[in-house]
Amino acid sequence: MFKESKLYSIFKNKCPKCHEGQFFQTNNPYNLAEFSKMPEKCPVCGQKYEPETGFYFGAMYVSYALGVAIFVTVWVATSVLTPDLAVGWLIALVLGAILLMFPVSFRLARLIWINLFVKYTGKDNKVQHNHN
Ligand SMILES: [Zn+2]
Repeated sequence: MFKESKLYSIFKNKCPKCHEGQFFQTNNPYNLAEFSKMPEKCPVCGQKYEPETGFYFGAMYVSYALGVAIFVTVWVATSVLTPDLAVGWLIALVLGAILLMFPVSFRLARLIWINLFVKYTGKDNKVQHNHN
């Protein structure tokens, strides 16, 4: 059941349409040479991973939202755990966390974004070509 959920595609790095093919070439976001590389289309169902030029421009908003979420989480966690920490350290920690999370949030942003536009259909619709 979980496999049919968009969360499966987002968290397992799978094609938004068939949930079978890899979305990013590597599953490791900290492989810094490869983490942002994705094939032109899904090797299993043929779904284009960049349906139109500039498609991922909008993913920046998702990325921004994820950044804010990281910011709030780290800020709140740090304030609760070490209430006496100087603000300078707090800011450094938050920035560090955002930097550290960058490869993960970059990939999540793209996966979330394409999942907003491409529906899961399973891999049986292989022949159907998709022009979004
Ligand atoms: Zn696919």
